[in-house]
Amino acid sequence: MIDQRIGAHFWLSEFLRSDTAVRHGIDNTPSATELANIINILAPGMQQVHDLLSVPVHVTSGYRCQAVERALKRKPEAWRSTSQHTLGLAADFVAPQFGSCKTVCKYLLEHGGDLRFDQLIYEGNWVHISFVAQTPRREVLTAHFVAGGAVSYTQGLA
Ligand SMILES: [Zn+2]
Repeated sequence: MIDQRIGAHFWLSEFLRSDTAVRHGIDNTPSATELANIINILAPGMQQVHDLLSVPVHVTSGYRCQAVERALKRKPEAWRSTSQHTLGLAADFVAPQFGSCKTVCKYLLEHGGDLRFDQLIYEGNWVHISFVAQTPRREVLTAHFVAGGAVSYTQGLA
């Protein structure tokens, strides 16, 4: 897939890169629909995040095809094909120059009144954010990782 700029600060390749795909020899190429989601919904949302934080935003995981998503889950039963990553609507990111992931989440909630995110999840070492075409839920969650690879979510920032 030929790389292209999306907006002023992102490249398409940033949303497609996946170490897991490389490791497992999976072709993480999005469908036309997923690609359109990345370009028209996810990247503009991330652009807003960038503009709010005013520092480089590093996408650590964007689009993940179903095979990549499945390979990532240590527990197959925890695998949800409904992950917004598989639709090209979610990104995990860090912005170390701004501060910790918790600081980033707090700031986005306090100053991102116009940020039309569907879900914002504080995941400890990264921030998960998703955007949708329809009315966003603006749901805020904190992920809690426990031994064995299980994860549970609580409402709000914990
Ligand atoms: Zn995520």
